[in-house]
Amino acid sequence: MADQIETNDYENGWKVLEELTENGHRIQEQVLEEILMRNAGTEYLSRFLHGQTDKQLFKNNVPIVTYEDIKPYIDRIANGETSNILLADPISEFIQSSGTSGGQPKLIPMTAENFEKKTLELTLVDPIVKRYFDGLEKGKTMSLFFVKKGSETPSGLTVRTLSSCYFMSDSFKKSAPKICTSPIETILCLDHKQSMYCQLLTGLLRRDHVVSISSIFGSVLARSIKFLEDHWNELCSNIRTGCLSDWITDLGCRNAVSLILTRPNPELADTIEHICGNESWEGIIKKLWPEAKYINSVITGTMSQYISLLDFYGGGVPLVSPSYGSSESTFGINLTPLSNPYDVSYTFLPNMAYFEFLPVDKDRGEKAQESDFDGVSSQWSSEITNANGNVGPVDFANVKLGQYYEVVVTTFTGLYRYRVGDVLKLTGFHNNSPQFQFVERRNTVLSIDMDKTSEADLLKAIGNAKRHLEPLGFMLMTFSSYAETSSIPGRYVLFWELKFKESTRCPKLDAKIMEQCCSIVEESLDFTYKSLREANKIAALELRVVKHGTFDALMDFYVSKGASINQYKTPCCIKSEEAVKVLNSGVVEKFFSSKTFFLS
Ligand code: AMP
Repeated sequence: MADQIETNDYENGWKVLEELTENGHRIQEQVLEEILMRNAGTEYLSRFLHGQTDKQLFKNNVPIVTYEDIKPYIDRIANGETSNILLADPISEFIQSSGTSGGQPKLIPMTAENFEKKTLELTLVDPIVKRYFDGLEKGKTMSLFFVKKGSETPSGLTVRTLSSCYFMSDSFKKSAPKICTSPIETILCLDHKQSMYCQLLTGLLRRDHVVSISSIFGSVLARSIKFLEDHWNELCSNIRTGCLSDWITDLGCRNAVSLILTRPNPELADTIEHICGNESWEGIIKKLWPEAKYINSVITGTMSQYISLLDFYGGGVPLVSPSYGSSESTFGINLTPLSNPYDVSYTFLPNMAYFEFLPVDKDRGEKAQESDFDGVSSQWSSEITNANGNVGPVDFANVKLGQYYEVVVTTFTGLYRYRVGDVLKLTGFHNNSPQFQFVERRNTVLSIDMDKTSEADLLKAIGNAKRHLEPLGFMLMTFSSYAETSSIPGRYVLFWELKFKESTRCPKLDAKIMEQCCSIVEESLDFTYKSLREANKIAALELRVVKHGTFDALMDFYVSKGASINQYKTPCCIKSEEAVKVLNSGVVEKFFSSKTFFLS
């Protein structure tokens, strides 16, 4: 079984994957049995199971919940009550998820044993990419990994992000020197600017050894390339003189970098300066790291907005989105790394948790379902069954091709029938394990009047509009949006940060073209939006173009509020007034849709 993988051994890894996926249904049943055997006696499960471990009873009696429903239990543990009110094994720490609950980060229990299980997914990704790319063992990854300072609950339990937990673990510290160009001290440095500078510097110093580039999410890589744009002169000067900039004050970083930056290297500095001094940064990754075989970053879901930018910078280096997981559970891995970034599916790993899938009706009233079920999650299962004629959550063995589902997990660490909030589409099977495409976060919607525009709808609409700009040499770097409701009727406002492909300077935007972009977005939205627009219940969509670096400021804002750089996902739509202010402070031009008729 997967627990027996100890090395990154190629054959062994594949064998394990085949075994896991062939026996998916059986393993899922075993996982549920094991979770119930261990935890049926906890205060939480006893309420519904009265100490029994019967799987059918679990499905009939245990409610489908959201974080809000279990928060009182989490809070009790955080305040010092014993963790066995939720799970039998002792909690080793809390994992801080990027989702928030009423402005507070969600805390997900973690046990030492489960942490090992989670890191296993990373071991399984290796043999897959090795199948597709030769020579990976001859070089290293230029990593752009970061850790975030942890905190403590009143009861003294540590709270960390999952990635910090992983990067600070002994196993990562041991393997990092073999696999990363970044010295571990630069990854563990809590000052993100110093950390990023030193990771880029060491990646440039060892550029001939770099066989892949890796960040957890695509947004971090995009941000790092922008950082490189702002700092390449200084980086080259450090390489030329062999002296590290004085502002790198973190001792760990200084010492570790000094072991690599050992002498002046004017030839290397000249080469990098020549590459970076080019007006266009098209293909910069390929040029700076010529041996890089692939870019390893999640670029699905909201991250898909970075695909064209990373393609542009990558210069043909394939983008590989390795896995899909969350603080709550690992879900799946991408078995076909070379698939089109827009079409990536993740094969679920049946040993990670017990998975159930709530059908989401994309064509028939998904939006109605969302509002109906918000806040009544405890009865959701039965309500779905009653209202929709036996359409309840289904298990691994009963998912249907082409159907949309919201994923529900039961974990080894105290989450029982927990709605993660992600909507997925079933695209196929590998052996007996389902493969899903990530569609959207369930709750991120723009809403005015009766309209609810989902993340996926918005991504699609903006995708259509940005294609209009591309022939003119402009790329959409990143975007966000909010519903402006202080005036009546309200309107949707988009924030766009653009880049001109040919040069680092952006020429003047053509107002007509930008207005057309607004109209294309509106035309691409659904019937409800268009009818409300035509009835003037929603005003013309507004596009605010922001200056270079504004979205970095937004990320800094969220990081200052407690988000982790590694986990940061540029929000598709913003609810926080403070965050809107950050974006507004970078606005350089505003455009409005001039379209008035949509349905006639
Ligand atoms: P966190 O718990 O903070 O790590 O955030 C987990 C969330 O990130 C998931 O529930 C997804 O919404 C999103 N996410 C993680 N991996 C992927 C992926 N491969 N594709 C799209 N979204 C992802």
